[in-house]
Amino acid sequence: GPVIRFNDVHFAYDAERPILKGVSFEIPAGHTVAVVGPSGAGKSTLSRLLYRFYDVGSGAITIDGQDLRDVTQESLRARIGMVPQDTVLFNDSIAYNIRYGRPDANDEEVRRAADMAQIGPFIATLPKGYDSQVGERGLKLSGGEKQRVAIARTILKAPPILILDEATSALDTKTEQDIQSALDVVSANRTTLVIAHRLSTVVNANEIIVLKDGQIAERGTHFDLLGRQ
Ligand code: ADP
Ligand code: ADP
Repeated sequence: GPVIRFNDVHFAYDAERPILKGVSFEIPAGHTVAVVGPSGAGKSTLSRLLYRFYDVGSGAITIDGQDLRDVTQESLRARIGMVPQDTVLFNDSIAYNIRYGRPDANDEEVRRAADMAQIGPFIATLPKGYDSQVGERGLKLSGGEKQRVAIARTILKAPPILILDEATSALDTKTEQDIQSALDVVSANRTTLVIAHRLSTVVNANEIIVLKDGQIAERGTHFDLLGRQ
């Protein structure tokens, strides 16, 4: 069966205002499913439910056939890596932040992950600005740089399942392209849920779901969706 399954998922943050209204889709092993749609449609909410920041209202999410509510937090975190929209870094070195989730990793592995995420130079220049407040007062990382640290962390952890909540709309084109290529590296051959803002960034997804007002309005490949417009 599929690695990830959303079965008629309903969800509301507040009882009066439903956000997801019966969402069903599956992600087979190694596939990438991308969710696109207007702001406020509920895209990020899907990723938060999969990472179990919240429980579904009704319906179910299963991972390898097991209901998410029966999976321990520890087991879930071991299986899923998430690159969230707003990465909050620990007040510690960039290397520490990248190593978080795999404390056993050696320096060479950390450096390689940093290079793949194009954040390598920050590790090297760290001692200069480092005052135990990295990301706040120390190195003053931009949003894109913090996201690259999160990507490096995920590359190092190499979980079988990935959630990529893209936040590239606020970045300049060059940074966006750099981050996109880093994300492509992480998601290759992994079971991936991508939250995307533009169809152009998810050309290679096995399936694209267009979410509108908490429901699936359209679904298909990039080719299918462009052909229908
Ligand atoms: P998208 O990712 O498609 O932009 P979101 O899933 O972030 O949409 O949000 C869907 C809706 O849920 C929005 O109207 C948003 O304001 C609301 N929302 C998101 N997070 C919360 C929260 N923690 N509490 C209440 N409402 C929320
Ligand atoms: P861990 O379990 O590995 O300590 P968390 O699961 O707490 O890490 O968080 C993983 C990432 O998701 C962090 O970068 C964090 O900033 C982000 N995050 C945590 N809580 C939420 C939330 N409610 N909504 C969106 N993102 C969150």
